[in-house]
Amino acid sequence: MSHDNCLFCKIAAGEIPSTKVHEDDEFVAFRDIRPAAETHVLIIPRKHIETLSNVTPEDAPMLGRMLVLVSKLADKLGVAYTGGETGFRTVFNTGPGGGQEVYHIHAHLLAGPRPWLRMG
Ligand code: AMP
Ligand code: ZN
Repeated sequence: MSHDNCLFCKIAAGEIPSTKVHEDDEFVAFRDIRPAAETHVLIIPRKHIETLSNVTPEDAPMLGRMLVLVSKLADKLGVAYTGGETGFRTVFNTGPGGGQEVYHIHAHLLAGPRPWLRMG
């Protein structure tokens, strides 16, 4: 899918509404429209990359910052691992074999009481 008709590029540009929990020059994070868990947020880079199989070594710093943002958002959303039974899951579905539906790279951040509806 090209950048021009990419749903997540349009969400990042504000052309399609979303419930944003974070926005900066490089990333946008918003609530999944069909949450599989009590907390279900998607973190995307503004840069259009189709899948985790399309990244290059040049993307390494961005991917590192993306994971640091996941950690920061988990903290902000109150689901960080702080001991005991706390914590969250981070998932990158990649290609049809990985269950990917939207071809703009994104991390799912999932947390909350089981059962989760999908991806459990
Ligand atoms: P994936 O299967 O990893 O590609 O995940 C795509 C996710 O995007 C799914 O969990 C969808 O529920 C979610 N999604 C699809 N459209 C929207 C939208 N307009 N706003 C927020 N989340 C969406
Ligand atoms: Zn895109």
